[in-house]
Amino acid sequence: MTSGDNLFGRLLGRSSALTLDTPIAHPTGLQLQLDHQGHVLTVNGTLRSQLAAHALGDARPLLRELLCASSALSIEGSPADWQRQTLDLDFQGTADMVLHTRGWIEPDGDGWSLRLLDVGDLLAGRQLAQQRDHNYVMACQMSEQLRVCSLARLPEVFSEHLRSLAQQWHIPCVAMALLDEEDQGWRIYSQYAAHDAPALWQTDQHLGISLDSANGNAPLSLAQGRSDNPPLHSIFGNTDGFLVPYRDSQGVAAWLLCGLYNSQPHTSDRDWLNLTAALAAPLLSRLREQRHHQQLERVEALQGLLGTGWWELLPATQQIQLAPQLLHSLGQEDGATRQGLDAWLELIHPADRQELNSRLQDLQALGKPLLASVRLQRSDTDHTPIWYRVQGQVLGAGDNRRWIGFMLDISDIKNQQLQAAAAHARLDNLIASSPAVIYVQRYINGALHPAFFSDSLLPLLGWTLADCDHTSLVSLIHPEDRDLYFERTRQLLREGTVRSRYRLRDKQGHYHWLLDEAKLLRDDLGLPVEAVGLWLDVTDATLAAEHIRQSEERYRILVEDSPAMICRYQPDLTLTFGNTPLANYLECMPSQLPGLNLGNWLSDEQRQAFVQRISQLTAEFPVSTAEISLQLPGREHAWWVWSDRGVFDEHGALVEVQAVGRDNTDVRRSQQQLTQSAKMATLGEMATGLAHEINQPLNVMHMAVVNVLKRLSSGDVQIDYLTEKLQRIDAQVQRAARVVDHMRVFGRRSEIEQQPFDPAQALEGTLSLLGEGLRGKGVEMRITPADCGVQVNGYVDQLEQVLINLMVNARDALLGKRGKDPQFRPWIAVHCEHDSRHVRIWVEDNGGGIDPRLLERIFEPFFTTKPIGVGTGLGLSVSYGIVENMGGRLSVANGEEGAKFCIELPVL
Ligand code: ADP
Repeated sequence: MTSGDNLFGRLLGRSSALTLDTPIAHPTGLQLQLDHQGHVLTVNGTLRSQLAAHALGDARPLLRELLCASSALSIEGSPADWQRQTLDLDFQGTADMVLHTRGWIEPDGDGWSLRLLDVGDLLAGRQLAQQRDHNYVMACQMSEQLRVCSLARLPEVFSEHLRSLAQQWHIPCVAMALLDEEDQGWRIYSQYAAHDAPALWQTDQHLGISLDSANGNAPLSLAQGRSDNPPLHSIFGNTDGFLVPYRDSQGVAAWLLCGLYNSQPHTSDRDWLNLTAALAAPLLSRLREQRHHQQLERVEALQGLLGTGWWELLPATQQIQLAPQLLHSLGQEDGATRQGLDAWLELIHPADRQELNSRLQDLQALGKPLLASVRLQRSDTDHTPIWYRVQGQVLGAGDNRRWIGFMLDISDIKNQQLQAAAAHARLDNLIASSPAVIYVQRYINGALHPAFFSDSLLPLLGWTLADCDHTSLVSLIHPEDRDLYFERTRQLLREGTVRSRYRLRDKQGHYHWLLDEAKLLRDDLGLPVEAVGLWLDVTDATLAAEHIRQSEERYRILVEDSPAMICRYQPDLTLTFGNTPLANYLECMPSQLPGLNLGNWLSDEQRQAFVQRISQLTAEFPVSTAEISLQLPGREHAWWVWSDRGVFDEHGALVEVQAVGRDNTDVRRSQQQLTQSAKMATLGEMATGLAHEINQPLNVMHMAVVNVLKRLSSGDVQIDYLTEKLQRIDAQVQRAARVVDHMRVFGRRSEIEQQPFDPAQALEGTLSLLGEGLRGKGVEMRITPADCGVQVNGYVDQLEQVLINLMVNARDALLGKRGKDPQFRPWIAVHCEHDSRHVRIWVEDNGGGIDPRLLERIFEPFFTTKPIGVGTGLGLSVSYGIVENMGGRLSVANGEEGAKFCIELPVL
């Protein structure tokens, strides 16, 4: 290329090559001789050979015909018109080339001389400059737009620029690859592919580190099929490629990738570098801005979430600057971000303010890092304190020093800390005052050495850690329990956990029973590190257990050795336990009793009555006592006084019955004997009356016999007369026989079991024995017809005996009274009444009654007011026992004229 100076010289005509003196045969450039019409006569000069052939022929073409179409227009008219102006003429050259020339025309003899110089390189330079200008403008525009567009539109704007770049330079595929800061690889930020080009890249495509292998100083052309750098070629699919780097202070930060393309000569490397820089620099700066922005947003969000924020001291103005988030969390949304240090300190609770202030001064004066936990001064009534951690440090040095820190809301942590501390203190207190000691024993060479005891050791045992070291601990253990302790340690080391109980001496010399529970802690390799355990003072519990065991033993002995029968049975009468006396009665071993049924030894009636009685037990009235009769093996009848106590579950249902019994058979038997003897005594007593009862019929019969004999001796015997007398005698015989019969019945022993009967039956029997005798003695019998019609349970003969006793006593009182007053008219009244539950038989006389002072005593055995040999004092006491045994009651009161007895019996 011609140098600029030469070109300039040529244009100014100063170049020697342009002087007019230059020999015409070889002038520089092109020299044409023209006639006045503009026909070319001759062509000379160094450029002559570059003109198209038709310009050099013999024909004289017009100058216009040698020019390209565009430049032909600029010369209209004849040569005379073209004088004194610069002519730019483009000739058709050889091989379709255009020869760009510039020159002037001057008269030359008869014609005109046109002198032209080659300005092709000058034009090319200008075009290049224009192109460069264009590039520059375009780069500036792109750069500007990238700088000002919103962050959200950045990808879109950038992609637009890539597209115009591609179109401008006819690049089929273009992309911008950026260095990914996270993984230090290259990534496609944006790409464009013309519609007829293959898409070599995708947005966000990861290129790995393959671009690192390119030299990042200058654009790089990759020719298809030349794989001196295979990774790089593979990025371009092994086709033509062109890469332009962008370097910033850190090194290559971006690559412009042009695929299926090779650089064109009119765009220099410098231009490419500039163009790429125009795209990449603002893009990277905007992306950094975006990252910074996001970072800021994250920090702000974090500050908001944590209730924290930065602050910076401004000592020059005695001010502090606070992050907006901090103002917000301090409840100072309206406050200024810069405020006086004093105003800020006012926010702090007075208790912490001075300390914080002094530390702030230390920070400023000494550069001492600040760390303090402070409470906020609160005006509201909520007493939960708000805690902040204030931390600060000095940044920079010298004049660039800054004092920066943050405040963090630690109320949660602080309050939890306080709560935990309080809980800890409570726990410590609890342990210290409980009968428990927590200990740690360190593992040293196979042995466990005490390393820690909780404070409760001292109050509990009076020892300290120093008293309980490895050697002395064993000496504190009860000699009898030392083996237990050694075994405990062995088991702990072997199995990792142990629970044992041994005695340990306290400072006073007393032994405590300790329950020891320990666990072995191991390190990562499984080697023992230490044992953590708990001593629980179980002295009281152990002694109490011993106590219970002893008392249980005593009760067991008591139950076993008791002469009473003791047992437990279920509501269906199945025994669950019975002691030896019970087993003896039932003729088996105590161990055989569980499972047997008590009902086996009861008659059907007794069992029914028993079950019914048990079913009436309730949680409120769980106890019932009764006399039960049993049919025991090898014995006749047994009478047991049996006391039951029900055990109930939480719903009040009977679960079990505990019973205590005593054999009452002997008492029963003697009672029966007593009753019997009393009966006999009654009979004896009634002998006079009975003699009268029997005498009466005998007298009647005697009279009849005497009268019959008299008639027989007088011979006046009629059949009717005889028949009538014999019938009378028969009636009297029957009457006497009835009396004797009843006496026999009465004299018999009572039945074993109680039977239902009508009480009127007993009254009848009594009257058959006593009625006539009493009447014979002049006692009026006032008997209200007995229409009881109800049944009672018991023994009819015994109730008869009671009635006999009452009537005999009444008779004695009446006859005694008549002995003193012959005018006295004695009577005995008997009447019955009943309601749905009871029947009552009243026996009343007019014998004057009983001395009120004696009323309470007359039922006592052997109490009598009658002379010795007459009264036995047994009648009423036996009668009382009989009535009670039938479930009734015998009572007495003084009536209007005499004693009034009442027999009350439950009806069936
Ligand atoms: P005994 O008849 O052998 O004295 P009892 O036990 O039958 O024994 O009577 C005790 C006492 O009660 C009698 O001694 C008598 O004093 C008094 N007694 C009983 N019945 C009557 C009665 N109907 N009128 C007055 N006293 C009576």
